[in-house]
Amino acid sequence: MARPMSLPPEITDYPLTAQTRAFLSDTPFGHVIEGRMVPSRTGATLPVIEPATGLEFARVASGDRADVDAAVRSARTAFDDGRWRRLPPAQRERCLRRLAQLLDAQRELLSDLDVLEGGVLRDYSGFMVQLGIDIVEYYAGWPTKVEGSLPASAPDLVVQVTREPIGVVGVILPWNGPSAVPLGVVPALACGNSVVLKPSEETPLTAVLLARLCVEAGIPPGVFNVVQGIGEVAGAALVEHPLVDAISFTGSVETGRRIQVAAAARLKRVALELGGKSPQLVFADADLDAAAATCAAAVWGHAGQVCVAGTRVLVERRIHDEFVQRMVEASRHLRIGSGFDPQSQLGPLISQAQLERVSRYVTIGRDEGATLALGGARHGSRGYFHQPTIFTGVHNDMRIAREEIFGPVMTVMPFDTEDQAYAIANDTEYGLAAGVWTRDLARAHRASQRLDAGTVWVNTYLRVDPGVPYGGVKQSGFGRSLGAASIEELTRLKSVWLNIA
Ligand code: NAD
Repeated sequence: MARPMSLPPEITDYPLTAQTRAFLSDTPFGHVIEGRMVPSRTGATLPVIEPATGLEFARVASGDRADVDAAVRSARTAFDDGRWRRLPPAQRERCLRRLAQLLDAQRELLSDLDVLEGGVLRDYSGFMVQLGIDIVEYYAGWPTKVEGSLPASAPDLVVQVTREPIGVVGVILPWNGPSAVPLGVVPALACGNSVVLKPSEETPLTAVLLARLCVEAGIPPGVFNVVQGIGEVAGAALVEHPLVDAISFTGSVETGRRIQVAAAARLKRVALELGGKSPQLVFADADLDAAAATCAAAVWGHAGQVCVAGTRVLVERRIHDEFVQRMVEASRHLRIGSGFDPQSQLGPLISQAQLERVSRYVTIGRDEGATLALGGARHGSRGYFHQPTIFTGVHNDMRIAREEIFGPVMTVMPFDTEDQAYAIANDTEYGLAAGVWTRDLARAHRASQRLDAGTVWVNTYLRVDPGVPYGGVKQSGFGRSLGAASIEELTRLKSVWLNIA
């Protein structure tokens, strides 16, 4: 690969740490196979673009089938020779704890990469970086606690049921949370699996950092490999590879569907964390100040590019107008800008394509007859910023209420009765999350029973904890990450019969 490439002058002027500058000087970034960064066999690379400016600041290898094969073979060998899964569990725990410490020591670099490659604001990055560290610490406790059982059986037999790692797990991730990469990878490692990660081509750098830190933490080279490249090529090759035993995918419904079909050809285990169109129900008895501030933040956070963004706000009719006014006031003066400006409150979209997608949906909303209560246009002419946008007069059968936009666009709908609120909330093909705002304890319980979603937040939103299972229902996917549920997803049971007669 050609090198070196210097940073564009504007990016050179950013307040990047010395660690970040040193890390970026390694461009073009490669795959990480057997613990070493390697270029694509063809030498092909892709640009890495800063969303706030649209400037290319690094390049990354564009992998093909041969690169994927090399990464998978590395992971397979590491699994088969047992260099990781056969280590004493306490030793695996020590490595993972060390990884958590190393991530902690690299917070600033992780945050710089979040801003540079993901367009993430510092606050949101802080939340994601901390979540990543918490997840590694949580799963570092698991290797010594994965247990089997001894079911009762005939007196001439001892039957033991053990829980084993699955083998090589292919992990495919989206771009909307670069520093949350540990979430996709570390539970699989904790179970003793080997992993091949295909990060998003938009945010490929954090994965390289994680792979380096894994080796530094003592996880043997080859156990965690990264293959870079575009989804239809490198991602598809990973899913189809015969030596990959399971796929853990996070991304859009459309891609998830394709992956499940491809994996079915080899009957691979698949876990899918997909998109959403999550409702937030606001009842008239709610604490309206808290509800308005949080409902707005649940859509503007990371410019709406969050899988659980609460983009369908359902408001009891008698407070509808007042509540919309409160949300408009909470949002009208948001400062739009890059994560390198500490004053910024709303960041950019990830790419030109995403900006065009959001603009298209705003046009669709207008054409469908919805009313713009706020925003509705691109912000500035540089980078991929879009104004916070609120549509009222929305019906749940409009496309803007049904399809995931993945941008700062909120649709507000009134309801008259509790039953009607649940009916509208559940009238969606998605089922990732839902929010409820009420002071009525009985209604809070009813809502959490009636809402068809993997997560229900009551009088709060977007709380995540490593010990609490997370995932969707309906078209939002299946399988659960986090908590003990992940351990079950990433292991398999074996029944062993011993004749002791
Ligand atoms: P995407 O589906 O376009 O891409 C996700 C990943 O899949 C990328 O790495 C991409 O390269 C790869 N990919 C694309 N085509 C592929 C193929 N044919 N075979 C294999 N891999 C392929 O999604 P995105 O635009 O990166 O991310 C946004 C989506 O992710 C949204 O729908 C969002 O809701 C969803 N998401 C869900 C969760 C969750 O936990 N449920 C979390 C974050 C994002």
